Amino acid sequence: MKKPYEKPVIFKLKTGFMNKFGEGSYLLKKVRSKIEGVSVDDLVKEFGSPLFVFSERKLRQKFRELKNAFALRYPNVEFSWSYKTNYLDAICAILHDEGETAEVVSEFEYEKARRLGVPGNKIIYNGPYKPLDSLRVTVKEGARINVDHFEEIADLEQVADELGTKPRIGIRLNMDIGIQPQWSRFGFNLESGQALDAVKRIAAGGKLELVGLHCHIGTFILEPRAYEQEVKKMVEFAYRVEEEFGFKIEYLDIGGGFPSKNKLRGIYLPPDVAVPSIDEFAERVCNALLSSLRPGDYPKLILESGRAIVDESGYLITTVHAAKRMPDGRKAYVLDAGVNILFTAFWYHFNVEIDREINGPAEPCILYGPLCMNIDVVDDMVQLPPLPRGTRLILSPVGAYNVTQWMQFIRYRPNVVLIGENGEVELIRKAEDLSDIVKRERLPERLELKWKG
Ligand SMILES: *Cc1c(COP(=O)(O)O)cnc(C)c1O
Repeated sequence: MKKPYEKPVIFKLKTGFMNKFGEGSYLLKKVRSKIEGVSVDDLVKEFGSPLFVFSERKLRQKFRELKNAFALRYPNVEFSWSYKTNYLDAICAILHDEGETAEVVSEFEYEKARRLGVPGNKIIYNGPYKPLDSLRVTVKEGARINVDHFEEIADLEQVADELGTKPRIGIRLNMDIGIQPQWSRFGFNLESGQALDAVKRIAAGGKLELVGLHCHIGTFILEPRAYEQEVKKMVEFAYRVEEEFGFKIEYLDIGGGFPSKNKLRGIYLPPDVAVPSIDEFAERVCNALLSSLRPGDYPKLILESGRAIVDESGYLITTVHAAKRMPDGRKAYVLDAGVNILFTAFWYHFNVEIDREINGPAEPCILYGPLCMNIDVVDDMVQLPPLPRGTRLILSPVGAYNVTQWMQFIRYRPNVVLIGENGEVELIRKAEDLSDIVKRERLPERLELKWKG
Protein backbone atom coordinates (compact mmCIF):
# COMPACT_ATOMS: atom_id res chain seq x y z
CA MET A 1 0.00 0.00 0.00
CA LYS A 2 1.33 3.43 -0.94
CA LYS A 3 1.83 5.74 2.00
CA PRO A 4 0.25 9.21 1.73
CA TYR A 5 2.69 11.96 0.83
CA GLU A 6 3.82 14.15 3.68
CA LYS A 7 5.81 17.30 3.12
CA PRO A 8 9.24 16.96 4.74
CA VAL A 9 10.03 19.21 7.70
CA ILE A 10 13.28 19.86 9.44
CA PHE A 11 13.53 20.07 13.20
CA LYS A 12 16.49 20.09 15.52
CA LEU A 13 17.19 16.91 17.42
CA LYS A 14 18.69 17.44 20.84
CA THR A 15 19.23 13.84 21.74
CA GLY A 16 20.48 13.23 25.21
CA PHE A 17 20.53 16.84 26.35
CA MET A 18 18.64 18.09 29.34
CA ASN A 19 16.44 21.11 28.89
CA LYS A 20 16.73 23.96 31.36
CA PHE A 21 14.15 22.34 33.59
CA GLY A 22 16.15 19.16 34.01
CA GLU A 23 14.10 16.98 31.71
CA GLY A 24 15.40 15.20 28.69
CA SER A 25 13.50 16.11 25.55
CA TYR A 26 14.83 13.23 23.50
CA LEU A 27 13.15 9.98 22.66
CA LEU A 28 10.03 9.29 24.56
CA LYS A 29 10.44 5.87 26.06
CA LYS A 30 7.30 5.69 28.07
CA VAL A 31 5.68 2.54 26.89
CA ARG A 32 2.83 0.98 28.82
CA SER A 33 1.06 -2.06 27.48
CA LYS A 34 -0.75 -2.89 30.74
CA ILE A 35 -2.61 -1.22 33.57
CA GLU A 36 -2.48 -3.19 36.82
CA GLY A 37 -1.45 -6.25 34.86
CA VAL A 38 -4.36 -6.02 32.42
CA SER A 39 -3.49 -5.51 28.77
CA VAL A 40 -4.52 -2.15 27.32
CA ASP A 41 -5.37 -3.94 24.10
CA ASP A 42 -7.77 -6.32 25.86
CA LEU A 43 -9.39 -3.46 27.76
CA VAL A 44 -10.12 -1.60 24.54
CA LYS A 45 -11.32 -4.75 22.76
CA GLU A 46 -13.87 -5.34 25.49
CA PHE A 47 -14.87 -1.82 26.53
CA GLY A 48 -13.97 0.42 23.59
CA SER A 49 -11.97 3.64 23.35
CA PRO A 50 -11.81 6.10 24.95
CA LEU A 51 -11.96 4.31 28.28
CA PHE A 52 -11.49 5.46 31.87
CA VAL A 53 -9.72 2.86 33.97
CA PHE A 54 -9.51 3.00 37.78
CA SER A 55 -7.17 0.95 39.94
CA GLU A 56 -8.68 -0.18 43.24
CA ARG A 57 -5.23 -1.11 44.55
CA LYS A 58 -3.84 2.37 43.89
CA LEU A 59 -6.93 4.08 45.34
CA ARG A 60 -6.75 2.15 48.60
CA GLN A 61 -2.99 2.65 48.74
CA LYS A 62 -3.24 6.44 48.35
CA PHE A 63 -5.96 6.64 50.99
CA ARG A 64 -3.94 4.56 53.45
CA GLU A 65 -0.86 6.72 52.91
CA LEU A 66 -2.90 9.79 53.81
CA LYS A 67 -4.59 8.08 56.71
CA ASN A 68 -1.34 6.79 58.20
CA ALA A 69 0.42 10.12 57.74
CA PHE A 70 -2.20 11.85 59.93
CA ALA A 71 -3.40 9.09 62.23
CA LEU A 72 0.15 8.37 63.40
CA ARG A 73 0.68 12.02 64.33
CA TYR A 74 -2.65 13.01 65.89
CA PRO A 75 -5.07 10.88 67.91
CA ASN A 76 -8.43 12.12 66.64
CA VAL A 77 -8.78 12.31 62.85
CA GLU A 78 -11.73 11.87 60.49
CA PHE A 79 -11.39 11.52 56.74
CA SER A 80 -14.35 12.68 54.71
CA TRP A 81 -14.56 11.89 51.01
CA SER A 82 -15.06 14.93 48.79
CA TYR A 83 -17.87 13.72 46.51
CA LYS A 84 -17.40 16.36 43.85
CA THR A 85 -13.88 15.09 43.17
CA ASN A 86 -15.28 11.74 42.03
CA TYR A 87 -18.76 10.55 42.94
CA LEU A 88 -18.92 7.31 41.01
CA ASP A 89 -20.63 4.81 43.32
CA ALA A 90 -17.79 2.30 43.10
CA ILE A 91 -15.13 4.86 44.00
CA CYS A 92 -17.16 6.23 46.95
CA ALA A 93 -17.96 2.70 48.14
CA ILE A 94 -14.26 1.78 48.25
CA LEU A 95 -13.41 4.91 50.24
CA HIS A 96 -16.34 4.40 52.63
CA ASP A 97 -15.13 0.84 53.06
CA GLU A 98 -11.76 2.33 54.06
CA GLY A 99 -13.58 4.34 56.74
CA GLU A 100 -14.16 7.68 55.06
CA THR A 101 -17.34 9.62 55.77
CA ALA A 102 -18.88 11.76 52.98
CA GLU A 103 -18.36 15.45 52.24
CA VAL A 104 -20.99 16.89 49.91
CA VAL A 105 -21.66 20.32 48.44
CA SER A 106 -25.16 19.95 47.01
CA GLU A 107 -28.44 18.20 47.66
CA PHE A 108 -27.70 15.98 44.66
CA GLU A 109 -24.44 14.77 46.21
CA TYR A 110 -26.20 14.36 49.57
CA GLU A 111 -28.88 12.21 47.97
CA LYS A 112 -26.24 10.15 46.18
CA ALA A 113 -24.39 9.47 49.43
CA ARG A 114 -27.64 8.55 51.23
CA ARG A 115 -28.68 6.26 48.38
CA LEU A 116 -25.32 4.50 48.66
CA GLY A 117 -26.09 3.81 52.32
CA VAL A 118 -24.16 6.55 54.14
CA PRO A 119 -26.09 7.62 57.29
CA GLY A 120 -26.91 11.32 57.58
CA ASN A 121 -24.64 11.77 60.60
CA LYS A 122 -21.69 10.52 58.53
CA ILE A 123 -22.16 13.31 55.99
CA ILE A 124 -20.67 16.80 56.06
CA TYR A 125 -22.71 19.34 54.11
CA ASN A 126 -20.67 22.28 52.73
CA GLY A 127 -21.03 24.90 50.04
CA PRO A 128 -22.40 28.39 49.40
CA TYR A 129 -25.79 27.27 48.10
CA LYS A 130 -27.87 25.13 50.39
CA PRO A 131 -31.57 25.45 49.56
CA LEU A 132 -33.92 25.62 52.55
CA ASP A 133 -35.48 22.25 51.74
CA SER A 134 -32.06 20.59 51.77
CA LEU A 135 -31.36 22.15 55.19
CA ARG A 136 -34.63 20.66 56.52
CA VAL A 137 -33.58 17.19 55.38
CA THR A 138 -29.95 17.39 56.46
CA VAL A 139 -30.71 18.85 59.90
CA LYS A 140 -33.35 16.19 60.49
CA GLU A 141 -30.93 13.43 59.47
CA GLY A 142 -28.12 14.76 61.67
CA ALA A 143 -25.67 15.83 58.96
CA ARG A 144 -22.91 18.21 59.95
CA ILE A 145 -23.50 21.54 58.25
CA ASN A 146 -20.81 24.16 57.77
CA VAL A 147 -22.43 27.54 57.29
CA ASP A 148 -21.29 29.79 54.44
CA HIS A 149 -23.04 33.14 55.03
CA PHE A 150 -25.40 35.11 57.28
CA GLU A 151 -28.53 34.22 55.30
CA GLU A 152 -27.80 30.58 55.95
CA ILE A 153 -27.70 31.25 59.70
CA ALA A 154 -31.21 32.67 59.41
CA ASP A 155 -32.34 29.70 57.29
CA LEU A 156 -31.00 27.27 59.87
CA GLU A 157 -32.77 29.13 62.67
CA GLN A 158 -36.00 28.79 60.74
CA VAL A 159 -35.41 25.04 60.36
CA ALA A 160 -34.58 24.85 64.08
CA ASP A 161 -37.95 26.45 64.90
CA GLU A 162 -39.82 24.15 62.54
CA LEU A 163 -38.21 21.00 63.89
CA GLY A 164 -37.99 22.11 67.51
CA THR A 165 -34.32 21.14 67.73
CA LYS A 166 -31.06 22.99 68.31
CA PRO A 167 -28.89 22.07 65.31
CA ARG A 168 -25.18 21.62 65.96
CA ILE A 169 -23.36 23.48 63.24
CA GLY A 170 -19.95 24.62 62.04
CA ILE A 171 -18.99 27.80 60.25
CA ARG A 172 -16.70 28.08 57.29
CA LEU A 173 -13.84 30.54 57.61
CA ASN A 174 -11.62 32.15 55.00
CA MET A 175 -8.32 33.71 55.98
CA ASP A 176 -5.04 35.09 54.82
CA ILE A 177 -2.43 32.35 55.05
CA GLY A 178 0.01 33.87 52.61
CA ILE A 179 -1.02 32.11 49.43
CA GLN A 180 -2.58 33.54 46.30
CA PRO A 181 -5.29 33.56 45.18
CA GLN A 182 -7.01 33.86 48.52
CA TRP A 183 -10.35 32.04 48.41
CA SER A 184 -12.34 34.72 50.18
CA ARG A 185 -15.67 34.04 48.52
CA PHE A 186 -16.57 31.13 50.79
CA GLY A 187 -17.46 31.46 54.43
CA PHE A 188 -16.71 34.29 56.82
CA ASN A 189 -13.50 36.27 56.73
CA LEU A 190 -11.33 35.95 59.80
CA GLU A 191 -9.10 39.03 59.63
CA SER A 192 -11.92 41.51 58.96
CA GLY A 193 -13.84 40.41 62.04
CA GLN A 194 -16.68 38.98 59.95
CA ALA A 195 -16.17 35.50 61.39
CA LEU A 196 -16.49 36.82 64.93
CA ASP A 197 -19.63 38.70 63.90
CA ALA A 198 -21.06 35.41 62.64
CA VAL A 199 -20.42 33.80 66.01
CA LYS A 200 -22.02 36.79 67.75
CA ARG A 201 -25.02 36.45 65.50
CA ILE A 202 -25.34 32.72 66.24
CA ALA A 203 -25.02 33.33 69.98
CA ALA A 204 -27.59 36.15 69.91
CA GLY A 205 -30.09 33.94 68.05
CA GLY A 206 -29.75 31.24 70.68
CA LYS A 207 -31.17 28.60 68.35
CA LEU A 208 -27.97 27.01 67.04
CA GLU A 209 -25.04 25.35 68.77
CA LEU A 210 -21.67 26.20 67.22
CA VAL A 211 -19.47 23.12 67.49
CA GLY A 212 -17.13 23.27 64.51
CA LEU A 213 -14.85 25.38 62.37
CA HIS A 214 -14.27 24.65 58.71
CA CYS A 215 -11.91 26.03 56.10
CA HIS A 216 -10.79 24.97 52.63
CA ILE A 217 -7.94 27.18 51.46
CA GLY A 218 -7.83 26.15 47.80
CA THR A 219 -6.78 23.23 45.66
CA PHE A 220 -3.46 21.78 44.48
CA ILE A 221 -1.66 23.68 47.25
CA LEU A 222 2.08 23.08 46.95
CA GLU A 223 2.99 24.80 50.22
CA PRO A 224 2.70 22.74 53.45
CA ARG A 225 3.30 25.87 55.53
CA ALA A 226 -0.02 27.30 54.31
CA TYR A 227 -1.76 24.55 56.29
CA GLU A 228 0.36 25.28 59.34
CA GLN A 229 -0.90 28.88 59.23
CA GLU A 230 -4.47 27.73 58.65
CA VAL A 231 -4.43 25.37 61.64
CA LYS A 232 -2.87 27.93 63.99
CA LYS A 233 -5.46 30.54 63.09
CA MET A 234 -8.29 28.06 63.51
CA VAL A 235 -7.13 26.94 66.96
CA GLU A 236 -6.68 30.51 68.10
CA PHE A 237 -10.17 31.38 66.88
CA ALA A 238 -11.67 28.26 68.50
CA TYR A 239 -10.35 29.32 71.92
CA ARG A 240 -11.57 32.85 71.43
CA VAL A 241 -15.06 31.61 70.57
CA GLU A 242 -15.05 29.36 73.61
CA GLU A 243 -13.93 32.11 75.96
CA GLU A 244 -16.18 34.87 74.66
CA PHE A 245 -19.30 32.93 73.79
CA GLY A 246 -19.06 29.60 75.59
CA PHE A 247 -19.23 27.51 72.41
CA LYS A 248 -17.03 24.43 72.72
CA ILE A 249 -15.42 23.70 69.35
CA GLU A 250 -15.40 19.94 68.83
CA TYR A 251 -13.99 19.75 65.33
CA LEU A 252 -11.52 21.60 63.15
CA ASP A 253 -12.17 20.74 59.51
CA ILE A 254 -9.21 21.88 57.42
CA GLY A 255 -10.76 20.96 54.05
CA GLY A 256 -8.85 19.46 51.14
CA GLY A 257 -6.38 20.88 48.66
CA PHE A 258 -3.39 18.56 48.92
CA PRO A 259 -1.85 18.08 45.47
CA SER A 260 -1.61 14.87 43.47
CA LYS A 261 1.44 13.88 41.43
CA ASN A 262 0.14 15.79 38.42
CA LYS A 263 2.05 18.34 36.37
CA LEU A 264 0.49 21.76 36.70
CA ARG A 265 0.85 23.87 33.54
CA GLY A 266 3.45 26.57 34.07
CA ILE A 267 5.38 24.51 36.61
CA TYR A 268 8.29 22.91 34.84
CA LEU A 269 9.69 20.69 37.53
CA PRO A 270 8.49 17.10 37.36
CA PRO A 271 5.83 16.27 39.99
CA ASP A 272 8.23 14.09 41.95
CA VAL A 273 10.26 17.24 42.65
CA ALA A 274 7.55 19.93 42.72
CA VAL A 275 4.91 18.13 44.79
CA PRO A 276 5.63 17.71 48.54
CA SER A 277 4.83 14.32 50.05
CA ILE A 278 1.72 13.80 52.13
CA ASP A 279 4.00 13.30 55.15
CA GLU A 280 5.28 16.86 54.81
CA PHE A 281 1.71 18.18 54.96
CA ALA A 282 0.82 15.91 57.88
CA GLU A 283 3.94 16.97 59.78
CA ARG A 284 3.10 20.67 59.44
CA VAL A 285 -0.58 20.27 60.29
CA CYS A 286 -0.13 17.98 63.29
CA ASN A 287 2.80 19.90 64.73
CA ALA A 288 0.83 23.12 64.43
CA LEU A 289 -2.12 21.48 66.18
CA LEU A 290 -0.13 19.93 68.99
CA SER A 291 1.84 23.10 69.63
CA SER A 292 -1.14 25.45 69.70
CA LEU A 293 -3.72 23.29 71.51
CA ARG A 294 -3.83 23.25 75.30
CA PRO A 295 -2.58 20.04 76.92
CA GLY A 296 -5.25 17.37 76.88
CA ASP A 297 -7.32 19.09 74.17
CA TYR A 298 -7.78 16.92 71.10
CA PRO A 299 -10.63 18.32 68.99
CA LYS A 300 -11.41 16.18 66.00
CA LEU A 301 -9.28 17.01 62.97
CA ILE A 302 -11.28 16.53 59.77
CA LEU A 303 -9.68 16.20 56.35
CA GLU A 304 -11.65 16.43 53.12
CA SER A 305 -8.93 15.45 50.71
CA GLY A 306 -10.10 14.77 47.18
CA ARG A 307 -7.54 14.84 44.40
CA ALA A 308 -4.61 13.63 46.51
CA ILE A 309 -6.49 10.36 47.06
CA VAL A 310 -8.14 9.60 43.75
CA ASP A 311 -6.21 11.34 40.99
CA GLU A 312 -3.46 8.77 40.58
CA SER A 313 -5.80 5.81 40.52
CA GLY A 314 -7.35 6.99 37.23
CA TYR A 315 -6.12 6.47 33.65
CA LEU A 316 -7.65 7.34 30.31
CA ILE A 317 -6.98 5.17 27.28
CA THR A 318 -7.43 7.12 24.06
CA THR A 319 -6.71 6.25 20.43
CA VAL A 320 -4.92 8.15 17.66
CA HIS A 321 -7.48 8.73 14.95
CA ALA A 322 -5.39 10.81 12.56
CA ALA A 323 -2.05 12.58 12.19
CA LYS A 324 -1.67 16.08 10.80
CA ARG A 325 1.08 18.49 10.00
CA MET A 326 0.27 22.06 11.03
CA PRO A 327 1.18 25.06 8.84
CA ASP A 328 3.95 26.00 11.29
CA GLY A 329 5.51 22.58 10.84
CA ARG A 330 4.34 21.10 14.12
CA LYS A 331 2.98 17.61 14.25
CA ALA A 332 -0.54 17.14 15.56
CA TYR A 333 -2.76 14.17 16.32
CA VAL A 334 -6.52 13.87 16.51
CA LEU A 335 -7.60 11.68 19.43
CA ASP A 336 -10.96 10.17 20.30
CA ALA A 337 -10.92 11.91 23.72
CA GLY A 338 -10.88 15.67 24.30
CA VAL A 339 -11.75 18.30 26.86
CA ASN A 340 -15.36 17.06 26.86
CA ILE A 341 -14.23 14.19 29.07
CA LEU A 342 -10.87 15.58 30.24
CA PHE A 343 -11.77 18.79 31.95
CA THR A 344 -8.48 18.87 33.86
CA ALA A 345 -6.49 19.14 30.60
CA PHE A 346 -6.93 22.90 30.96
CA TRP A 347 -4.67 22.85 34.03
CA TYR A 348 -2.31 19.91 33.74
CA HIS A 349 0.14 18.24 31.41
CA PHE A 350 -0.71 14.59 31.85
CA ASN A 351 1.79 11.82 31.80
CA VAL A 352 1.47 10.45 28.23
CA GLU A 353 2.41 6.85 27.58
CA ILE A 354 2.08 4.80 24.39
CA ASP A 355 0.94 1.21 24.18
CA ARG A 356 3.83 -0.03 21.97
CA GLU A 357 7.46 0.49 21.11
CA ILE A 358 7.71 2.95 18.23
CA ASN A 359 10.96 3.78 16.50
CA GLY A 360 11.70 7.21 15.11
CA PRO A 361 12.71 10.59 16.47
CA ALA A 362 10.47 12.28 19.03
CA GLU A 363 9.27 15.75 18.20
CA PRO A 364 6.99 18.23 20.01
CA CYS A 365 3.38 17.40 19.23
CA ILE A 366 -0.09 18.78 19.82
CA LEU A 367 -2.83 16.42 20.91
CA TYR A 368 -6.27 17.52 19.73
CA GLY A 369 -9.54 16.03 20.90
CA PRO A 370 -12.46 15.08 18.64
CA LEU A 371 -14.56 18.22 19.15
CA CYS A 372 -15.21 20.92 16.56
CA MET A 373 -13.89 23.48 19.01
CA ASN A 374 -10.63 25.32 18.85
CA ILE A 375 -10.08 24.92 22.59
CA ASP A 376 -10.19 21.15 22.40
CA VAL A 377 -6.50 20.61 23.13
CA VAL A 378 -5.40 17.76 25.38
CA ASP A 379 -1.74 18.78 25.29
CA ASP A 380 0.22 21.30 23.26
CA MET A 381 3.80 20.29 23.99
CA VAL A 382 4.37 16.61 24.33
CA GLN A 383 7.38 14.83 22.83
CA LEU A 384 6.27 11.83 20.80
CA PRO A 385 7.72 9.57 18.11
CA PRO A 386 5.70 9.20 14.89
CA LEU A 387 2.46 7.52 15.96
CA PRO A 388 0.60 5.36 13.48
CA ARG A 389 -3.18 5.57 13.37
CA GLY A 390 -4.68 3.29 16.03
CA THR A 391 -1.87 3.82 18.57
CA ARG A 392 -3.29 3.95 22.07
CA LEU A 393 -2.19 6.66 24.43
CA ILE A 394 -2.54 6.18 28.17
CA LEU A 395 -3.02 9.49 29.99
CA SER A 396 -2.62 9.83 33.74
CA PRO A 397 -3.35 10.89 36.41
CA VAL A 398 -6.96 11.63 35.54
CA GLY A 399 -8.90 10.22 38.50
CA ALA A 400 -9.87 13.58 40.04
CA TYR A 401 -12.54 15.95 38.70
CA ASN A 402 -12.83 14.39 35.22
CA VAL A 403 -15.60 11.84 35.67
CA THR A 404 -17.59 14.49 37.53
CA GLN A 405 -16.88 17.57 35.40
CA TRP A 406 -17.05 15.80 32.04
CA MET A 407 -19.84 16.88 29.79
CA GLN A 408 -22.08 15.29 27.27
CA PHE A 409 -21.15 17.62 24.45
CA ILE A 410 -20.92 16.48 20.82
CA ARG A 411 -20.03 12.94 21.89
CA TYR A 412 -21.32 10.35 24.34
CA ARG A 413 -19.45 9.78 27.57
CA PRO A 414 -17.46 6.53 27.49
CA ASN A 415 -17.28 3.43 29.68
CA VAL A 416 -15.53 3.52 33.04
CA VAL A 417 -14.02 0.33 34.43
CA LEU A 418 -12.45 -0.63 37.73
CA ILE A 419 -9.59 -3.09 38.00
CA GLY A 420 -10.11 -4.85 41.32
CA GLU A 421 -7.32 -5.89 43.64
CA ASN A 422 -7.61 -9.42 42.25
CA GLY A 423 -7.07 -8.12 38.70
CA GLU A 424 -10.69 -8.55 37.69
CA VAL A 425 -12.10 -5.85 35.41
CA GLU A 426 -15.59 -4.56 36.19
CA LEU A 427 -17.72 -1.99 34.40
CA ILE A 428 -18.59 0.77 36.90
CA ARG A 429 -20.24 3.25 34.54
CA LYS A 430 -21.72 2.24 31.24
CA ALA A 431 -21.09 4.37 28.16
CA GLU A 432 -23.96 6.62 27.20
CA ASP A 433 -26.07 6.15 24.11
CA LEU A 434 -28.82 8.09 22.39
CA SER A 435 -31.49 6.84 24.80
CA ASP A 436 -29.81 8.59 27.75
CA ILE A 437 -30.11 11.91 26.03
CA VAL A 438 -33.53 11.66 24.38
CA LYS A 439 -35.07 10.29 27.57
CA ARG A 440 -35.01 13.87 28.91
CA GLU A 441 -36.40 15.56 25.82
CA ARG A 442 -40.00 16.38 24.95
CA LEU A 443 -40.96 17.22 21.38
CA PRO A 444 -44.22 19.19 21.13
CA GLU A 445 -46.54 17.21 18.91
CA ARG A 446 -46.95 20.07 16.45
CA LEU A 447 -43.23 19.94 15.73
CA GLU A 448 -43.07 16.28 14.83
CA LEU A 449 -41.33 15.88 11.50
CA LYS A 450 -43.24 14.76 8.47
CA TRP A 451 -40.91 14.89 5.50
CA LYS A 452 -42.72 15.63 2.34
CA GLY A 453 -41.32 14.06 -0.82
C1 LIG B 1 -13.44 20.56 46.50
C2 LIG B 1 -13.42 20.53 47.95
C3 LIG B 1 -12.62 19.60 48.64
C4 LIG B 1 -11.64 18.68 47.94
O1 LIG B 1 -10.59 19.42 47.40
P1 LIG B 1 -9.26 18.74 46.84
O2 LIG B 1 -8.44 19.90 46.38
O3 LIG B 1 -9.67 17.85 45.70
O4 LIG B 1 -8.61 17.98 47.93
C5 LIG B 1 -12.71 19.58 50.01
N1 LIG B 1 -13.53 20.43 50.69
C6 LIG B 1 -14.30 21.34 50.06
C7 LIG B 1 -15.18 22.24 50.85
C8 LIG B 1 -14.27 21.43 48.67
O5 LIG B 1 -15.02 22.35 48.06
